[in-house]
Amino acid sequence: MREIKEELVQRLATLYPGDAASLCELSFEGPFQLAVATILSAQCTDRIVNSVTEALFGLFPDAKSLAGADLGRVETLIRPTGFYRNKAQNIVSFSRELVERYDGEVPDTIDRLVELSGVGRKTANVIVTVGFSKPGIAVDTHVIRLSGRLGLTEFTDPERIEMDLLGWLAPLDAAAFGLRLILHGRRVCSARKPKCEACPLGDICPSFSTL
Ligand code: SF4
Repeated sequence: MREIKEELVQRLATLYPGDAASLCELSFEGPFQLAVATILSAQCTDRIVNSVTEALFGLFPDAKSLAGADLGRVETLIRPTGFYRNKAQNIVSFSRELVERYDGEVPDTIDRLVELSGVGRKTANVIVTVGFSKPGIAVDTHVIRLSGRLGLTEFTDPERIEMDLLGWLAPLDAAAFGLRLILHGRRVCSARKPKCEACPLGDICPSFSTL
């Protein structure tokens, strides 16, 4: 199994080259904008998030400006991302908490991030790995699905999967590996119709053509 895991890591790196920052498909400048874009990406595609953040970050580029924003205006700007009332409240509260506790700067640890509005463990992992180039892995629905199909874990709970994967991945490879699983899930191994016949991992995947 260890050889297969190493082969998986290598093939995915060849299929989806680059580091964590370049593999992330959200548009942002700096950790604050990354955090806001990631909060907005819940139940929404990166393409739609990117279509609203250009205007949002044009008006409110940092925590201090978004902390003082009119909530209704923010709701209107982010409406296409869905759940917009909740998300608007979260990103404004998140910004206010950053201003109050960290002088507007985004902290770079999971423990501090998950105390902030709108930030769960997955979002915190995106921020520390993509925003600060630190070790970690963000476990979303694609990572849950693919790590199961590829036989990398027997768990379905995101935190157990995170610990499972971090148990054998090299720390600084983990973030990019997670983002490559996400890209493979979006492009090849979709939830309903995985394209096993065209999948470059087919010969080493235990779920090949069984779904
Ligand atoms: S072979 Fe099929 S199930 Fe396995 S990773 Fe590829 S698309 Fe997914």
